[in-house]
Amino acid sequence: MRKKIAAGNWKMNTTLQEGTQLITDILTNLEADPPRQDAGEMLIIFAPPFITLKDAVELTRGNGQVKIAAQNCHTEEKGAFTGEISVPMIKSTGAEYVIIGHSERRAYFNESYEMLAKKVDVTLKHGLSPIFCCGEKLEIREKNEHFNLVKEQIESSLFHLDAEAFSKVVIAYEPVWAIGTGVTASPEQAQEMHAFIRKLIAEKYGMPAAEETTILYGGSVNAKNASELFAQKDVDGGLVGGASLKAGDFAVIVNSFQ
Ligand code: PEP
Repeated sequence: MRKKIAAGNWKMNTTLQEGTQLITDILTNLEADPPRQDAGEMLIIFAPPFITLKDAVELTRGNGQVKIAAQNCHTEEKGAFTGEISVPMIKSTGAEYVIIGHSERRAYFNESYEMLAKKVDVTLKHGLSPIFCCGEKLEIREKNEHFNLVKEQIESSLFHLDAEAFSKVVIAYEPVWAIGTGVTASPEQAQEMHAFIRKLIAEKYGMPAAEETTILYGGSVNAKNASELFAQKDVDGGLVGGASLKAGDFAVIVNSFQ
């Protein structure tokens, strides 16, 4: 059974102290209103800044439903790359997921398809799972080229994987026009793209693999719209930016699955 996931991408927000407090607050909220699904059905993922990874792992240890993700990694395992963070370093904190290909990384750090494929490979090599982001800018959608672009993004950086490796990947469809803008894709727009992505996966890896792949929606998900988005047949949860920084709102999002 494919898992549902509520993942919070904190981006470059929270000091170490603020981050550990945020996790404590979210866990307190969830104690008061526990998730309706168990860990076999649904996971909660926090993606704090690198400096908070180890503390996040320690604070959530013992809670099998909560996993920790890094927001990025380097393509290489070690070496002269001042200021960068490798997958073995991430793994040493206890984190189990890595967000790869977020549109902010693609836009501000010129991350190419080839580079992202390498990041996916090194992440899988060390037994961590990529949360692979894809999605189009507004002008691409206006030209009705969004399906082609998402296909290209997925084919270029993921479809070199064999079926076993691909089964570890989580996909996040994040239309760039919806990220941090307050403009959410409609549930129908999200469902349409998620169904398209699942069909792509079915064509490449077969229907059972496609049915097992978790596909998240990201782009201005909040406590009010999450349940409508998550109710869509092919939307398996959300990658949440802004609203994941508010403990009460993120706990509501976690409890927005039917
Ligand atoms: C994101 O950063 O992945 C994101 C979807 O941000 P927001 O929820 O703020 O739009």
